Amino acid sequence: MKKDLVIAIDLGATNLRAGIISKNGKILKCFKIKTPKTSEAEILNNIIVLVNALLENFKKQNIKAITVAAGSPVSQDELIAPPNMPFKKIAIRKPLEKYFKLPVILNNDCIAAVWGEKHFGAGKKFKNLVYITISSGIGAGAIVDNHLLSGHSNNAAEIGHFTIDTKYNLLCGCKKGHGHWEAMCSGNNLPRFFKAWLKENRIKNKYLIRKSADIFALADKKDKIILKFLKEVGQLNGHGISNAIVAYDPELITLGGGVVLNNKKHILPYLKKNVDKYLKTPKIITTPLKEDIVLLGAAALVFYPKN
Ligand SMILES: [Zn+2]
Repeated sequence: MKKDLVIAIDLGATNLRAGIISKNGKILKCFKIKTPKTSEAEILNNIIVLVNALLENFKKQNIKAITVAAGSPVSQDELIAPPNMPFKKIAIRKPLEKYFKLPVILNNDCIAAVWGEKHFGAGKKFKNLVYITISSGIGAGAIVDNHLLSGHSNNAAEIGHFTIDTKYNLLCGCKKGHGHWEAMCSGNNLPRFFKAWLKENRIKNKYLIRKSADIFALADKKDKIILKFLKEVGQLNGHGISNAIVAYDPELITLGGGVVLNNKKHILPYLKKNVDKYLKTPKIITTPLKEDIVLLGAAALVFYPKN
């Protein structure tokens, strides 16, 4: 029996997706639910339910492995105090291996994503590329000289925790520092940054902003104050991207994550305008793989193991 399929899981802070993927990067079946916030056990149970649902339509003998990509930091076995989830640790590999009797691998979602870009997306022709997500959090994966960077603890390119601001003093969700890129410009933190920005600029807060989508909805209505705020967000995004360029010297940067993909016109022009020209500016585009990039990347790590 040919083992030419994998079951890929994208365990994000917002959504939990599970799909059956073929070797040429085709998603044959996929389910998506909101990521449970109640307990570690519920996350694991939901993964089991989704995988069982996928297996109803496919033969287990054809499955090469279950591959899980999750918001970091991750070890080979578990998620460790993910900054965007209310849990300390979530054991993944051993319980799933025991339950399904299939090999299970666990990786950082952005490291998986850039491998997906390389094998199934815009990165096929490039030896040096970086994928950056701006979603609930901010993270990246990097390929340098065709080599996928994983790092000492398997979490290389955690660039959401670059310090890019010293003015607003906002504590990051990682609780390890202030002014991290993720603390300012991620989907979870934009509303808080907006509040701090209004205060710093002595603008009366007449807004009811609960989530970042509220900010972008007002930007669509051309709210002048919001548009001014998004210019500053663009400056900070520019700092983050500039740091990534000097760190990895890429030919291509692809961007993904809900904040970028759903609000291209409010994010991309400001971001590109603020990229430093110290090194050769790479091509900067949104990923053609869109919200499937992590799922496809997790599968790519099984079909095309990293060197
Ligand atoms: Zn941080």
